Amino acid sequence: MSSSFQANRLNMQALAQDGVPLVASTLLQKLKRLAQETQGLQPDLSVQWEARAEFRSLPGADDEVWLHLQAKTSVPLTCQRCMGIVLAPLEVNQWYRFVATEDIAMAEDDQSEEDLLVMEPQFDLLALLEDELLMALPLVPMHDSCPVAPMLRVGEADVVGASDAKPNPFAALAQLKRK
Ligand SMILES: [Zn+2]
Repeated sequence: MSSSFQANRLNMQALAQDGVPLVASTLLQKLKRLAQETQGLQPDLSVQWEARAEFRSLPGADDEVWLHLQAKTSVPLTCQRCMGIVLAPLEVNQWYRFVATEDIAMAEDDQSEEDLLVMEPQFDLLALLEDELLMALPLVPMHDSCPVAPMLRVGEADVVGASDAKPNPFAALAQLKRK
C-alpha cells in the first residue's frame, strides 16, 4: 500500500495509474454508522479491505476508471430471538465504473451490471465501503440456532426455584445423623 493514498480523499485516476491494489484495515470506530449497528460490542474490531482501480479504454472516448472493492468481516449484532450476540459475516465484492456526472449515472444505471459512481477529485472510499457493509447487514440478525433456547432458560429457573423452596431431603438426613 502506498502511503500517499488516503482512503477518504482518494484520487481515483492516481490509484488507477498506480495499478497497485490498496490494501488496508480500518477501525470499525471510523465507520460510525456501521459502528452504531454493533452498539459498541466490539469497539476494537477492524475491517480488512482491498481496492483496485484500473483504466479501461473505449474507442473514441476517454479511458474509463473502474474500481473493484473487496472486504470481508464479521460484526457483532444483537440476536432478535435470544438477545445474545450474533456474529454477522459481511462481504463486499463489487465492481464500479466512474462516470462524469450524476445525470450520466442515472441514465446508464439500468443497463449496467456494474455500479456507477460519479467521479470526484477526492473520492471518499471509506464512505463507499461503509455503505456497502451497511447494505450487507442482515435485516433481522439471528443465530441459526440460539446457544440457549429462551424456553429452556425459564425451565432451569423453575428447577432452581423449587429446590430453594424445599430443603434437600438428603441434606436433612445428614444433619440428623450428625446429631
Ligand atoms: Zn440467538
